[in-house]
Amino acid sequence: MDNSSKAVDAALKTLREVRAALTASKLGNERAGLVFAVLDAERALRAALRAEKHPRVDCSHCRRRLKPDEPMAWRWNSYYGRGGLSEALCLSCSEPADRYEQHSCETCARVMHFDIAGACHARRPLTCSYQCNYRRKLKHQRDRNRVEHATIACIVCGEMFTQARRDAQTCSNRCRQALYRRSHRK
Ligand SMILES: [Zn+2]
Ligand SMILES: [Zn+2]
Ligand SMILES: [Zn+2]
Repeated sequence: MDNSSKAVDAALKTLREVRAALTASKLGNERAGLVFAVLDAERALRAALRAEKHPRVDCSHCRRRLKPDEPMAWRWNSYYGRGGLSEALCLSCSEPADRYEQHSCETCARVMHFDIAGACHARRPLTCSYQCNYRRKLKHQRDRNRVEHATIACIVCGEMFTQARRDAQTCSNRCRQALYRRSHRK
């Protein structure tokens, strides 16, 4: 196991410990301090998960850690409330009904099987893990920034300029004001 995964395990252990201490604590002052300790531990865990190099997929039945690239199944569970949640399974714990349709993780291309409810659901996972989901989000942010800084022709003077904002249409304040006056003249 590499260091980034060890850091996640350490953060998980700390979180479990402070949560247990909070549950056991009865003193008002102590509880207040422990509430903050839990929040800190949760933040540290998210940071460690974001930094983890390998996608972390644990089977929710046998608890086994899946190998990178090992195919998985997502089973839709509606009893989680708020519309339901997909549960990660290794293929040995999944049933034929869990393998109705197949997609690849958008980040690491791991094969993901879905049962019929999960395959049709709008909240179907697009990635296999927290790590892949985070990396997918980062990539989308980068793509968006690239579009925001596209070079286009000013719609007033025709001069090429680099957009400061995605919705910018004019090269300068002068052209922006000219456009504004033009559209408000009538
Ligand atoms: Zn399993
Ligand atoms: Zn993945
Ligand atoms: Zn212009």
